[in-house]
Amino acid sequence: MLAGCTPWPEEFARRYREAGLWLDVPLGELPRQWAREYGTATAVVSGQERLSYVELDEKIDRMAGGLAGHGLVRGDRAVVQMTNESTFLIVCFALFRLGVTPVFSLPAHRDVEVIHLIETSGAVAYVIPDVRLGYDYRLLASRVAIPRRTVRTVFVAGDVGEYAEFVSLSTVGEEPTGLPEIDAEEVAFFLLSGGTTGLPKLIPRTHADYFYQLRSAARLCELDRDTVYLAVLPMEFNYCLGCPGVLGTLHHGGRAVLALSPSPDGCFPLIERERVTMSSLVPTIAHAWVEAREWSDADLSSLEVVQIGSAKLHESLARKITPMLGCRLQQVFGMSEGLMSYVRRGDPEDAVLHTQGQPLSEFDELRVVDPETGEDVPRGECGELWARGPYTIRGYYNAPEHNAVAFTEDGFYRSGDLIRQTERGDMVVAGRIKDVINRGGDKVSATEVEGYLQGEEGIRQAAVVAMPDEVLGEKTCAFVIADGKAPTGLQLRSSWRAKGIADFKIPDRVELVDALPLTGLGKLDKTRLRADIAAKLREEAG
Ligand code: AMP
Repeated sequence: MLAGCTPWPEEFARRYREAGLWLDVPLGELPRQWAREYGTATAVVSGQERLSYVELDEKIDRMAGGLAGHGLVRGDRAVVQMTNESTFLIVCFALFRLGVTPVFSLPAHRDVEVIHLIETSGAVAYVIPDVRLGYDYRLLASRVAIPRRTVRTVFVAGDVGEYAEFVSLSTVGEEPTGLPEIDAEEVAFFLLSGGTTGLPKLIPRTHADYFYQLRSAARLCELDRDTVYLAVLPMEFNYCLGCPGVLGTLHHGGRAVLALSPSPDGCFPLIERERVTMSSLVPTIAHAWVEAREWSDADLSSLEVVQIGSAKLHESLARKITPMLGCRLQQVFGMSEGLMSYVRRGDPEDAVLHTQGQPLSEFDELRVVDPETGEDVPRGECGELWARGPYTIRGYYNAPEHNAVAFTEDGFYRSGDLIRQTERGDMVVAGRIKDVINRGGDKVSATEVEGYLQGEEGIRQAAVVAMPDEVLGEKTCAFVIADGKAPTGLQLRSSWRAKGIADFKIPDRVELVDALPLTGLGKLDKTRLRADIAAKLREEAG
């Protein structure tokens, strides 16, 4: 396995192979199988473009040939930051065929995040769109991909504009020669962690583990050729990519419709036109869709199921999904590191509304433990979820110190999520111990934001916590000890944007304080800060 990655111990790998979970099929092979099986059926709808399975496979081959012609070789890494469009899929599968490992950067990432990803992965290529939703990614690339970093080529989906040194993907394409043999147990791509200790860690996912995940998720969700899946969240998100998402849909001969933005204005007409049957949303987007339903008379009658996950779904919203969107609600809980959990069709209403269901695989091993002692808590009580299994990683890339904390010696991933299990065995996410703010599904590392704040002139100390928010579930509140020169919230916004920090990390609220509360042990008391801001918000709401 790639140096810097932790393989599954051989005894586990053998078990997964022998049980037929891990197959000797690298992901780059899948579009060939699909083309043979589903031929001219439409695979992907992206804007005005409609690609059949055969066309998709051909485009991937030509892209692989072209990227190889630009010097990409097996073992290289490429940061891929694309919006939802067919080029994302074509480039990714081309990279899989070449044995080049994509590192998925979110469309919302800016200089700080992209530089971090380039530097930690040693990427030699950076793939971007030209301008999407008003943002010029070429400008970003011109700042982040300078020669002293490893990047040799910036590939642009669209027009290179004034950047003659960039390569437009529309000019890239030739018949591939001598594609390498790919080992299915090698790393296929890197997802990003929610980042508990600063900038995101790289999550190495292998061909075999991911193919198993998407196959099992697709089976659980009963996908077939009639499935029309609307990709609303960025495809770089595990949840939209393979849970079962776009890849699960394609594996069963369905159609993946790619939305550039999650707004009801864009998505409802797509649902109506393409007769979409399924989508995956975060609660914030589900909320916007439900609200839009009040005034929109779009025909959503084709929708059969909407998955909701990535952040806590409150009962009040859960109850509105079926009456307002006219489809089944399926709660999903999971993490890019692996473990996924789903409510199944036919589960009792109580489980549908109040739980996040049961693990995807019978090979998933779960423990719910007291995080202080590591002892299992009795069934029904709340504890930290630890997970191990055929698609749950054994370590982050090149992060031995962090891995020593994030994984147990026997390979369980300490999720940092607090859950309890109902009598039936369904999981209920009750909170978390990791220091992350879940801003409507976008994960914000408190430590990272505290670091930026402490770098500001006039700020002596900062503590960042989650505060409740009706729409996003949680927002970021920064408690700050400052002298007279401290920036206002508005100044922070403009200066952080100028520094190239992703927008969703900018504190939603800044509270100036004289001192930060400490626990009896002298540690920063974030529980108290969370309670303080929640009380203040209640007071303000009257
Ligand atoms: P990500 O790796 O970005 O998918 O984030 C995974 C984290 O999102 C989990 O560890 C949880 O903290 C949170 N999460 C995912 N699904 C849910 C859910 N249904 N309810 C509450 N939190 C969730």
